[in-house]
Amino acid sequence: MAILEGDFKSLVRKKILVTGGAGFIGSHLCQRLVEQGHEVVCCDNYFTGQKDHIRSLLTNPQFELLRHDITFPLYIEVDEIYNLACPASPVHYQFDPVQTTKTCVHGAINMLGLAKRVKARIFQASTSEVYGDPEVHPQREDYWGWVNPIGPRSCYDEGKRCAETLFFDYRRQHNLEIKVARIFNTYGPRMHPNDGRVVSNFIMQALYNKPITVFGKGEQTRSFCFVDDLVEGFLKFMASPPGLTGPVNLGNPVEITILELAEKIIAMTRSESRIVFKPLPRNDPRRRRPDITLAKEKLGWEPKVDLKSGLEKTIEYFKQLIQDQPSV
Ligand code: NAD
Ligand code: UDP
Ligand code: UDP
Repeated sequence: MAILEGDFKSLVRKKILVTGGAGFIGSHLCQRLVEQGHEVVCCDNYFTGQKDHIRSLLTNPQFELLRHDITFPLYIEVDEIYNLACPASPVHYQFDPVQTTKTCVHGAINMLGLAKRVKARIFQASTSEVYGDPEVHPQREDYWGWVNPIGPRSCYDEGKRCAETLFFDYRRQHNLEIKVARIFNTYGPRMHPNDGRVVSNFIMQALYNKPITVFGKGEQTRSFCFVDDLVEGFLKFMASPPGLTGPVNLGNPVEITILELAEKIIAMTRSESRIVFKPLPRNDPRRRRPDITLAKEKLGWEPKVDLKSGLEKTIEYFKQLIQDQPSV
């Protein structure tokens, strides 16, 4: 570690590993950590991530890029680890479900082994999917979930649940400093335009004046958090006292039906798209909203960006993307 001068006088410069750093959330996190003066090692196998997301950091001497799959061991020296590597959208994580489970489980073991050897604090990007199709609403951290172990979403849901188990076992067995965050639906610039997630799908469809595909009747709900808010939550959680292991929910508690979201995006893009109803995918959760009392109390964190402002920024991003790469 080194002490920085100037604006960062009081900050200890750390060497920080971000796995999945070329992905949607990871690239925003890398950016923030570099801005804070840290040295960042971004590790990614580019399954869903892109070099473009971190292109502006490539010439920065504080930033280093590693092409590496975390299901294989990694021997480097770091002070902190953010473990984000894992495809997050159903289309991507169901493309190769065995690899998804491997990434969640073998990847977690390798990153925990690394953290153990170098005595690094380690953050896990867990997910609201550990609650499955919840019988309790909104979801609090002490709810154990309602998860199908053998369905098409299980590679991700059970993979992430097993990763949480490993984090807590490494804590109990090896006294590791762990931070387990359960992330709820997050959106913003650098989402993948074709990853099938609802916000990116609806915006792309609206911008191309194509039908907006609402699954089921659109009565299911989600709660959408803007990526900048989420990253702020990561940083606060990582900096919290060692006793605060989580799991901690990070998400925006404002709930909206998928049909309302479709209507909002059509209005905001002034699109000529009409809504079409498609079959609801199997095991699609009916309701999801985080209870963020714990994050508010322990981290002093809550989202600041409302859905309208966040969607404006995201729509702008996709408009620019279509202009730069008309084939997307
Ligand atoms: P993303 O797909 O954009 O990013 C994941 C990154 O991990 C990609 O860059 C991908 O190439 C990389 N990756 C995948 N497998 C890897 C492997 N084996 N080795 C190295 N790199 C690998 O997804 P995201 O939305 O940025 O999600 C980041 C993390 O946050 C994931 O762990 C995800 O489960 C979690 N999360 C995201 C959301 C959300 O709404 N976006 C919600 C809950 C949890
Ligand atoms: N590991 C790694 N980097 C390290 C240390 C360990 O990738 O710096 C991997 C290692 O390959 C091992 C896993 O992490 O399979 C778990 O390590 P741990 O020390 O917990 O278990 P063990 O090596 O005893 O199996
Ligand atoms: N969804 C939809 N149309 C789409 C994509 C998704 O109606 O084109 C629905 C999907 O069925 C789910 C919700 O939007 O109820 C959120 O889906 P997403 O894949 O973004 O996230 P997750 O299901 O993991 O919360």
